[in-house]
Amino acid sequence: MSDCIFCKIVNKEIPSEILYEDDNILAFKDINPVAPVHVLVIPKKHIISVNDIIDQDVQVIGNIFVVIKKLATQLGVAESGYRVVTNTGKDGGQVVGHLHFHLIGGKELGIKIG
Ligand code: 5GP
Ligand code: ZN
Repeated sequence: MSDCIFCKIVNKEIPSEILYEDDNILAFKDINPVAPVHVLVIPKKHIISVNDIIDQDVQVIGNIFVVIKKLATQLGVAESGYRVVTNTGKDGGQVVGHLHFHLIGGKELGIKIG
């Protein structure tokens, strides 16, 4: 998707602080962190949201969680705890229309969700 900001990050047209990359997955620091650890983990494939995940995406989605687990350890929050968030659509607060998983930690997070 030529006008997708995260596709541009995948294609290195926009710089980002990359923490992990493989053929199908990219993880980079959120530009506007809400906690000391705030990483976005995305499939390189342009999937708009959870609503658009198809059977062929199952492996990459599963692998994203393995990457999240490893990053949580590397970034020192595996023991203290962290939150994985995927906003979906307007009511879910999704701003960027490319599926992404927020890995947030490094402080005690509030319990408020809605
Ligand atoms: P959403 O609300 O869609 O779940 O979250 C989008 C996230 O992407 C936000 O936390 C925002 O700070 C982050 N973001 C938006 N544009 C950029 C960018 O150009 N670079 C990086 N690294 N993060 C971005
Ligand atoms: Zn995209």
